[in-house]
Amino acid sequence: MRMGTTLIHSGYDYDKNTGALGTPVFQTSTFARLNIDEKQEYDYARSGNPTRKALEETIARLEGGALLEARGYAFSSGIAAIASALSIFSAGDHIITAEDIYGGSYRLFNTFFKRWGLEYTAVDASSLDAVKAALKPATKALFLETPSNPLLKIVDLRPCFDFAREHNLISIVDNTFMTPYLQRPLELGCDIVVHSATKFLGGHSDVIHGLAVTRNEELGRRVYAVQNSFGAVPGPWDVFLVLRGIKTLKVRMEESQKTALAVARFLRGHKSVRAVYYPGLDGHPGKEIHEKQASGGGAVLSFKTDTVERARAFLSRVKLAAAAVSLGGVETIASYPVLMSHASVPPAERKRLGITDTLIRISCGLEDAADLITDFNDALE
Ligand SMILES: *Cc1c(COP(=O)(O)O)cnc(C)c1O
Repeated sequence: MRMGTTLIHSGYDYDKNTGALGTPVFQTSTFARLNIDEKQEYDYARSGNPTRKALEETIARLEGGALLEARGYAFSSGIAAIASALSIFSAGDHIITAEDIYGGSYRLFNTFFKRWGLEYTAVDASSLDAVKAALKPATKALFLETPSNPLLKIVDLRPCFDFAREHNLISIVDNTFMTPYLQRPLELGCDIVVHSATKFLGGHSDVIHGLAVTRNEELGRRVYAVQNSFGAVPGPWDVFLVLRGIKTLKVRMEESQKTALAVARFLRGHKSVRAVYYPGLDGHPGKEIHEKQASGGGAVLSFKTDTVERARAFLSRVKLAAAAVSLGGVETIASYPVLMSHASVPPAERKRLGITDTLIRISCGLEDAADLITDFNDALE
């Protein structure tokens, strides 16, 4: 089956008891034992819930493709999914991370897990040599994100996974920007994929949710142990919203990325724009690598204005894009990384990474591209 079909028929077609096409929302904390002597699949909803299971099987199939052992796990947020995946490691373990990851992941590594004795080294992961140079005897994992946030830098995934395998590292990829519709790291050799389903998978800016998918059952058991012990599980209504969002992922991604390319081309031609970052744009560094491992540029782009004043004015004048954090919704969102997603990254570090106060990130929604471009043009004047 092709991806568009799998998105609709990903394991849960209808309720076997009633024929309902909508996934039943099991709003329950506990399940009666039908036979007191027999263990059954569901006993307590932190450990398992049928609504959640429908989503977990769906994401496993979408990310895992032909990998029949792929296992999915749902969490109460993207960060909970990432934190839970990282919780399979122990104090003293060392992790190599890409340096321009999601700001909240940076904070998780840099403040939270540091206190728990997890060491990490952040490198420019678009250079395989830099990744290799960070290897230590205690290194246990490689944590990547591509395209990166917010500068859409590209990491060549396959050689990184080969390197990880060679050294027994568990490779983890945050696939939030691409979704399995455009990029499936497990198929390229990755061990664990994590998601903020708050973004494109949910797709409607109405839910906070996270997912993790492991390439095999053994890793799945380790992540499940954290899911059940740490307990950052989602409620069934949020799961339902993500399941519903996934059904329209194809049409949303196709339309939004078409708009993203049109907006990127418009911005590149604008006299007050100094740089445009979009993996689908000719000349974007790593575009060829991206096209080898993903089937589209996605719906997120960034650009730099000529002055700080113009960037700020753009955010207050723009009408069709909410000046807000987050991305991946049906509404276009313009965010200002220095004050929003990357506010927790120290200024000196931001400067080194090129996250300037002239940088604006756009997540294209489903408005007509022509209207967005007119609006952006007005806001840039
Ligand atoms: C939003 C986001 C996260 C965090 O997810 P939450 O659902 O907000 O907890 C992680 N990674 C990326 C790339 C994100 O965009």
